[in-house]
Amino acid sequence: MTLLKSWVASANTADTDFPLNNLPYGVFSTPDDDGARCGVAIGDMILDMAAMEEFGLVDLTGGPVFDVPFWNDVMDLGPAAWAALRARLTALLAEGSADQSLVEPHLVGRDTATLHMPFAVSEYTDFYAGMQHAKNMGAILRGSPDLPANWLHIPIGYNGRASSVVVSGTDIRRPLGQTKAPDAQMPSFGPTKRLDIELELGAIVGTGSTLGQPVSVAQADAMIFGYVLLNDWSARDIQGWEYQPLGPFQGKAFGTSISPWIVTAAALEDFRTSTPDREVDLLPYLNEEKPGLYDIHLEVLMQPENADTPTSLSKTNYSRMYYSAAQQLCHHSIGGCEMNGGDLLGSGTISGPTKSEYGSLMELSWATREPFTLNNGDQRGFIEDGDTLTLRGHAQGNGFKIGFGDCVGKILPALDTPFAD
Ligand code: MN
Repeated sequence: MTLLKSWVASANTADTDFPLNNLPYGVFSTPDDDGARCGVAIGDMILDMAAMEEFGLVDLTGGPVFDVPFWNDVMDLGPAAWAALRARLTALLAEGSADQSLVEPHLVGRDTATLHMPFAVSEYTDFYAGMQHAKNMGAILRGSPDLPANWLHIPIGYNGRASSVVVSGTDIRRPLGQTKAPDAQMPSFGPTKRLDIELELGAIVGTGSTLGQPVSVAQADAMIFGYVLLNDWSARDIQGWEYQPLGPFQGKAFGTSISPWIVTAAALEDFRTSTPDREVDLLPYLNEEKPGLYDIHLEVLMQPENADTPTSLSKTNYSRMYYSAAQQLCHHSIGGCEMNGGDLLGSGTISGPTKSEYGSLMELSWATREPFTLNNGDQRGFIEDGDTLTLRGHAQGNGFKIGFGDCVGKILPALDTPFAD
């Protein structure tokens, strides 16, 4: 597919994240208006969907749905409504649209807007579907890259926290917690010394399922509304002490950042790519009928407070994953667990086969044994206070990008004391 031309000039460049081909969904506010509401990114602008609905330019059966600070009401309407909305927006914003003069007053400059969480997160589940990441973590933590015995058969995951999922731009406070050094007799309490990122893609469930009724991989694929970049902030020392035998808890609970725009599954459709060849066959319920991954280029950048420019730490691709979001969603439901609109599924850390493609600092510094150097000469094993971490991602079309917008988080120092008066 080639670039679809829009009458919004800034949407017609090869390097914008938001050409007409994309049309991602977010929530925004401006200083002089009456609250956060739904918007669609187009070039340097945001289309005010609450205004579009108010003036009758967009009318979804079951509306109004856009004058609220979340896209969950649209998700509830289901795939037919999602397709109708995308078709309507594409027609309204296309070059030559007869409605340009009616739509133009409802565009807001993106640089004047504050972006908010694009949807209400029902629940958050995080997976572990990157093979290279799993092998690296085994090598670092257990001295062997051998995968856990279940890994080639199960998309492993844990139930995370929806309450601490935040939108890009939200500062993250270094968490306090309990750790134990290998040679210490007793655990100790204090700020994490091993604060890390995980480069992930988040899949957003649009329509739910029924308690007691599993969904197939094909059904799961149709239930997914869209995707965001996801940074699963991790405190490795807290995690390392707490995680056996029940898995991550406080080491992962303090914050998860997502990019502000939901890139729809429809916008990514032309970029589908297959999961890799299997070393062993999956159990049949996990087989997928159509390619479930996407060719999405990803990058991690780090910028200390005293540096003028960020340093690119890693570049990889979502196609490296072993399990697709649809396979993960199917597996999530297979025992009868009900899934809901607004459920967020983290892909698991995305790491490619070489160091330049690793998606966590744990891997990039090999747990501080091989510190890496930033543009300003600073060395890092993990994150220091004041560091800003950015995830970027896009699918590359012929002369256009389907971009996600940056997923940014800056680290604040830990609290001096844990409890408020
Ligand atoms: Mn993770």
